[in-house]
Amino acid sequence: MNIYDLDLQGLTAQLAELGQPAFRARQIYAHLYKKLANDFAAMTDLSAALREQLAAKFQIGGLELVREQTTDDGLTRKVLWRCPGNAVIETVLMIYPPDRATICVSTQAGCAMGCVFCATGKLGLLRNISSGEIMEQVLHFERYLRTEGAAIAKRHGGPVPDHITNLVFMGMGEPFANYDRWWAAVERLNDKQGFNLGARNMTVSTVGLVKGIRQLADEALQVNLAVSLHAPNDQLRSELMPVNDRFDISDLMDAVRYYTDKTHRRVSFEYVLLDDKNDTPELAAQLASLVKGMLCHVNLIPWNPVPGTPLTRSHRERVTAFQRVVQAAGISCTVRVERGVEIAAACGQLAALPAPTSPMNLY
Ligand code: SF4
Repeated sequence: MNIYDLDLQGLTAQLAELGQPAFRARQIYAHLYKKLANDFAAMTDLSAALREQLAAKFQIGGLELVREQTTDDGLTRKVLWRCPGNAVIETVLMIYPPDRATICVSTQAGCAMGCVFCATGKLGLLRNISSGEIMEQVLHFERYLRTEGAAIAKRHGGPVPDHITNLVFMGMGEPFANYDRWWAAVERLNDKQGFNLGARNMTVSTVGLVKGIRQLADEALQVNLAVSLHAPNDQLRSELMPVNDRFDISDLMDAVRYYTDKTHRRVSFEYVLLDDKNDTPELAAQLASLVKGMLCHVNLIPWNPVPGTPLTRSHRERVTAFQRVVQAAGISCTVRVERGVEIAAACGQLAALPAPTSPMNLY
């Protein structure tokens, strides 16, 4: 049994089966999520006999680390994992000196949504990721920052955080297609007795599964919402994102309005820019009128290369022109700073491809 799959209540029940009181479960929980222990032998305030019993009953994590890649500046790092059953997933850490470190986490191996511009979508869905496997991705990088933060800062020539400050569920997969496991991980990450990451520091990105958007709006924790829009009309959106045939733009906007009305939180619309496809000034104007009056921000993402697609990224001038049209309508609109393109760690590039040999810096 992967111990990361258990919340505190579940761990308490398992410990009770070993005849252990509830406070022992809290002790072990703190070892796992505060002290980041990845070996029962390190839990020296437990008796040797109990540590042996725990090691016989539980595994601490189940992901096999296959490969780590770091950009030349040392500020973006990607890990490729093999899950039990052989599917592979990726996780990316992005450090923004001096005080932000964001981890991008996968919630599924592959993805069934089939967005045409995305490398993950080409894999199809391989399997869902368990809550424990989501936890493990985060804990790995928290450990990395705690141990390597000072060395990264030295190399960078200025301070960097020694812990994860922000988390985005924007890696492989559609989180709302794996809602219950994903949410169990969110609650465990947020748990003050455990990892204690603020819900407001977490953002989930969805392709537009309206049931998930409404469900999130009704949750007690205030997790940020990003919606992959990518086109302002149904015809173009269906061409880029097959999910639009199930939930069209009108369904999507209704669900987003439900979220903003209920939470009073600003939603972020993600819009990947594809050259001569969805980046014209006319489409920018359509986008502006679609979202005008909503509690929102528009995030433009110049498309990152994915092998085997006929698409190309928008030219810089077209990106700027698109942004100006949206901003002129009084809508907050920024262009996402690209990170990790050279190690295929940027948006839409996660596909667990074989390691490129150049210009990557492989570890
Ligand atoms: S963009 Fe997201 S939802 Fe679409 S195929 Fe890629 S991983 Fe799936």
